[in-house]
Amino acid sequence: MFAFRDTCTLDPAPADAARVEVAFTDASLDLREGSPGFEPGIAALVEATGVPFARIDQVHGDDVHVVAAAPGADVAVADALVTAQRGVGLMVRVADCVPVLLADPGAGVVGAAHAGRAGVALGVIGRAVERMRELGAEQTRAWIGPHVCGRCYEVPATLRDEVAAAVPETRSETSWGTPALDLGAGVLAQLAAADVPAVTVGRCTLEDEQLHSYRRDGGDAGRLAGLVWIP
Ligand SMILES: [Zn+2]
Repeated sequence: MFAFRDTCTLDPAPADAARVEVAFTDASLDLREGSPGFEPGIAALVEATGVPFARIDQVHGDDVHVVAAAPGADVAVADALVTAQRGVGLMVRVADCVPVLLADPGAGVVGAAHAGRAGVALGVIGRAVERMRELGAEQTRAWIGPHVCGRCYEVPATLRDEVAAAVPETRSETSWGTPALDLGAGVLAQLAAADVPAVTVGRCTLEDEQLHSYRRDGGDAGRLAGLVWIP
Protein backbone atom coordinates (compact mmCIF):
# COMPACT_ATOMS: atom_id res chain seq x y z
CA MET A 1 0.00 0.00 0.00
CA PHE A 2 2.77 2.46 0.90
CA ALA A 3 5.87 3.17 -1.18
CA PHE A 4 7.21 5.20 1.75
CA ARG A 5 6.07 5.96 5.27
CA ASP A 6 7.62 8.01 8.06
CA THR A 7 6.78 9.48 11.44
CA CYS A 8 8.04 12.83 12.53
CA THR A 9 8.23 14.27 16.05
CA LEU A 10 10.29 16.94 17.73
CA ASP A 11 13.47 15.73 19.39
CA PRO A 12 13.16 16.11 22.34
CA ALA A 13 9.39 16.20 22.09
CA PRO A 14 7.48 18.48 24.50
CA ALA A 15 4.40 16.82 25.99
CA ASP A 16 2.01 18.70 23.71
CA ALA A 17 3.98 18.25 20.46
CA ALA A 18 2.15 16.47 17.71
CA ARG A 19 3.31 13.26 16.06
CA VAL A 20 3.04 13.72 12.31
CA GLU A 21 2.63 10.80 9.92
CA VAL A 22 3.61 11.03 6.26
CA ALA A 23 3.20 8.47 3.47
CA PHE A 24 3.20 7.98 -0.28
CA THR A 25 1.09 5.18 -1.74
CA ASP A 26 2.19 2.78 -4.49
CA ALA A 27 0.45 1.23 -7.52
CA SER A 28 -1.41 -1.31 -5.36
CA LEU A 29 -3.96 1.52 -4.93
CA ASP A 30 -5.44 3.61 -7.75
CA LEU A 31 -6.66 6.93 -6.37
CA ARG A 32 -7.68 8.46 -9.69
CA GLU A 33 -11.13 10.03 -9.26
CA GLY A 34 -13.66 7.91 -11.18
CA SER A 35 -11.50 4.80 -11.45
CA PRO A 36 -12.99 1.53 -10.08
CA GLY A 37 -10.22 1.47 -7.49
CA PHE A 38 -10.98 4.92 -6.10
CA GLU A 39 -13.62 4.27 -3.43
CA PRO A 40 -12.02 1.00 -2.22
CA GLY A 41 -8.64 2.78 -2.17
CA ILE A 42 -9.95 5.62 0.00
CA ALA A 43 -11.59 3.08 2.33
CA ALA A 44 -8.32 1.14 2.61
CA LEU A 45 -6.44 4.32 3.53
CA VAL A 46 -8.95 5.29 6.21
CA GLU A 47 -8.69 1.75 7.59
CA ALA A 48 -4.86 1.84 7.59
CA THR A 49 -4.45 5.31 9.06
CA GLY A 50 -7.56 5.90 11.19
CA VAL A 51 -8.26 9.34 9.70
CA PRO A 52 -10.45 10.73 6.91
CA PHE A 53 -8.60 12.56 4.12
CA ALA A 54 -9.42 15.97 2.65
CA ARG A 55 -8.65 16.04 -1.05
CA ILE A 56 -8.64 18.77 -3.69
CA ASP A 57 -9.56 19.17 -7.33
CA GLN A 58 -6.07 19.83 -8.73
CA VAL A 59 -5.79 22.20 -11.68
CA HIS A 60 -2.04 22.95 -12.00
CA GLY A 61 -2.46 26.31 -10.28
CA ASP A 62 -1.07 27.79 -7.09
CA ASP A 63 -4.10 28.16 -4.81
CA VAL A 64 -3.76 26.78 -1.28
CA HIS A 65 -6.86 25.48 0.50
CA VAL A 66 -7.03 25.76 4.30
CA VAL A 67 -8.81 22.73 5.77
CA ALA A 68 -10.68 23.92 8.86
CA ALA A 69 -12.87 20.93 9.70
CA ALA A 70 -13.40 17.25 8.96
CA PRO A 71 -13.63 16.72 5.20
CA GLY A 72 -17.14 16.75 3.79
CA ALA A 73 -18.52 16.27 0.32
CA ASP A 74 -17.11 19.47 -1.20
CA VAL A 75 -13.74 19.25 -2.85
CA ALA A 76 -12.01 22.63 -3.18
CA VAL A 77 -10.26 23.60 -6.40
CA ALA A 78 -6.61 24.08 -5.35
CA ASP A 79 -3.16 22.53 -5.71
CA ALA A 80 -2.14 22.52 -2.07
CA LEU A 81 -3.86 22.17 1.25
CA VAL A 82 -2.83 22.96 4.81
CA THR A 83 -4.36 22.42 8.22
CA ALA A 84 -3.78 22.79 11.94
CA GLN A 85 -6.49 20.21 12.72
CA ARG A 86 -5.57 16.92 14.36
CA GLY A 87 -7.34 13.85 13.06
CA VAL A 88 -7.79 15.18 9.53
CA GLY A 89 -5.55 13.87 6.80
CA LEU A 90 -4.47 15.80 3.72
CA MET A 91 -4.16 14.11 0.32
CA VAL A 92 -2.65 15.12 -3.00
CA ARG A 93 -2.68 12.77 -6.00
CA VAL A 94 -0.14 12.49 -8.79
CA ALA A 95 1.12 10.42 -11.70
CA ASP A 96 4.56 11.92 -12.57
CA CYS A 97 4.03 15.36 -10.93
CA VAL A 98 5.80 15.97 -7.61
CA PRO A 99 3.86 15.31 -4.39
CA VAL A 100 5.27 17.34 -1.47
CA LEU A 101 4.37 16.82 2.18
CA LEU A 102 5.05 19.50 4.79
CA ALA A 103 4.98 19.38 8.59
CA ASP A 104 5.82 21.36 11.68
CA PRO A 105 5.18 18.88 14.50
CA GLY A 106 5.95 21.51 17.16
CA ALA A 107 3.21 23.81 15.90
CA GLY A 108 0.90 20.95 14.84
CA VAL A 109 0.56 22.30 11.31
CA VAL A 110 0.78 20.16 8.15
CA GLY A 111 0.49 20.68 4.41
CA ALA A 112 0.52 18.84 1.10
CA ALA A 113 1.10 20.16 -2.41
CA HIS A 114 0.88 18.95 -6.00
CA ALA A 115 3.67 20.46 -8.08
CA GLY A 116 3.76 19.70 -11.77
CA ARG A 117 5.56 21.76 -14.37
CA ALA A 118 3.10 24.65 -14.02
CA GLY A 119 2.94 24.48 -10.23
CA VAL A 120 6.73 24.57 -9.91
CA ALA A 121 6.92 27.59 -12.24
CA LEU A 122 4.11 29.33 -10.28
CA GLY A 123 5.71 28.60 -6.91
CA VAL A 124 2.87 26.63 -5.32
CA ILE A 125 5.27 25.06 -2.77
CA GLY A 126 6.37 28.44 -1.43
CA ARG A 127 2.74 29.53 -1.15
CA ALA A 128 1.87 26.42 0.86
CA VAL A 129 4.79 27.09 3.23
CA GLU A 130 3.56 30.69 3.67
CA ARG A 131 0.03 29.57 4.51
CA MET A 132 1.42 27.12 7.09
CA ARG A 133 3.34 29.99 8.70
CA GLU A 134 0.09 31.97 8.90
CA LEU A 135 -1.32 29.00 10.85
CA GLY A 136 1.64 29.13 13.28
CA ALA A 137 4.29 26.90 11.68
CA GLU A 138 7.85 27.98 12.48
CA GLN A 139 10.01 24.95 11.71
CA THR A 140 8.57 23.26 8.69
CA ARG A 141 10.23 20.26 7.07
CA ALA A 142 9.32 18.51 3.84
CA TRP A 143 9.22 15.17 2.04
CA ILE A 144 9.49 15.13 -1.76
CA GLY A 145 7.66 12.06 -3.06
CA PRO A 146 8.07 9.85 -6.15
CA HIS A 147 7.80 11.69 -9.49
CA VAL A 148 9.17 11.46 -13.03
CA CYS A 149 12.90 12.09 -12.75
CA GLY A 150 14.98 14.69 -14.54
CA ARG A 151 16.59 12.02 -16.77
CA CYS A 152 13.16 10.86 -18.05
CA TYR A 153 11.00 14.00 -18.24
CA GLU A 154 11.57 15.06 -21.85
CA VAL A 155 10.10 18.40 -22.95
CA PRO A 156 10.53 20.67 -25.99
CA ALA A 157 13.53 23.01 -25.68
CA THR A 158 11.30 26.10 -25.56
CA LEU A 159 9.36 24.70 -22.61
CA ARG A 160 12.56 23.81 -20.77
CA ASP A 161 13.81 27.37 -21.29
CA GLU A 162 10.53 28.85 -20.08
CA VAL A 163 10.43 26.84 -16.83
CA ALA A 164 14.18 27.20 -16.24
CA ALA A 165 13.83 30.98 -16.58
CA ALA A 166 11.54 30.88 -13.51
CA VAL A 167 13.35 28.07 -11.63
CA PRO A 168 16.91 27.51 -12.97
CA GLU A 169 17.44 24.25 -11.04
CA THR A 170 14.84 22.51 -13.23
CA ARG A 171 17.06 22.63 -16.32
CA SER A 172 17.95 19.04 -17.21
CA GLU A 173 18.73 16.61 -20.00
CA THR A 174 17.29 13.14 -20.59
CA SER A 175 19.53 10.08 -20.41
CA TRP A 176 19.28 10.05 -24.23
CA GLY A 177 20.52 13.65 -24.50
CA THR A 178 17.41 15.74 -25.21
CA PRO A 179 15.96 18.73 -23.27
CA ALA A 180 14.31 17.78 -19.99
CA LEU A 181 13.01 19.20 -16.73
CA ASP A 182 13.99 18.05 -13.25
CA LEU A 183 10.96 19.11 -11.23
CA GLY A 184 12.28 17.46 -8.06
CA ALA A 185 15.43 19.61 -8.20
CA GLY A 186 13.25 22.68 -8.71
CA VAL A 187 11.08 21.83 -5.70
CA LEU A 188 14.16 21.13 -3.57
CA ALA A 189 15.58 24.56 -4.48
CA GLN A 190 12.26 26.28 -3.72
CA LEU A 191 12.08 24.56 -0.33
CA ALA A 192 15.69 25.55 0.45
CA ALA A 193 14.89 29.16 -0.49
CA ALA A 194 11.95 29.02 1.96
CA ASP A 195 14.29 27.60 4.65
CA VAL A 196 12.58 24.22 4.69
CA PRO A 197 14.84 21.13 4.93
CA ALA A 198 13.61 18.25 2.78
CA VAL A 199 13.89 14.48 2.49
CA THR A 200 13.82 13.23 -1.10
CA VAL A 201 12.11 9.84 -1.26
CA GLY A 202 13.47 9.10 -4.74
CA ARG A 203 12.07 6.51 -7.17
CA CYS A 204 11.09 7.61 -10.67
CA THR A 205 7.42 7.01 -11.48
CA LEU A 206 8.18 6.41 -15.16
CA GLU A 207 10.91 3.82 -14.50
CA ASP A 208 9.33 2.06 -11.51
CA GLU A 209 6.35 -0.18 -12.39
CA GLN A 210 5.30 -0.22 -8.75
CA LEU A 211 4.27 3.42 -9.18
CA HIS A 212 1.72 5.18 -11.41
CA SER A 213 3.00 7.17 -14.42
CA TYR A 214 0.97 9.25 -16.85
CA ARG A 215 3.87 9.34 -19.29
CA ARG A 216 4.12 5.54 -19.28
CA ASP A 217 0.43 4.57 -19.01
CA GLY A 218 -1.37 7.49 -20.70
CA GLY A 219 -4.96 8.52 -20.01
CA ASP A 220 -5.70 5.35 -18.05
CA ALA A 221 -2.84 5.95 -15.64
CA GLY A 222 -3.70 5.52 -11.97
CA ARG A 223 -2.82 8.03 -9.29
CA LEU A 224 -0.64 7.66 -6.25
CA ALA A 225 -1.21 9.77 -3.17
CA GLY A 226 0.90 11.85 -0.85
CA LEU A 227 -0.64 11.77 2.63
CA VAL A 228 0.09 13.70 5.82
CA TRP A 229 -1.85 13.61 9.06
CA ILE A 230 -1.65 14.20 12.78
CA PRO A 231 -3.36 11.25 14.52
ZN1 LIG B 1 13.36 8.44 -14.55
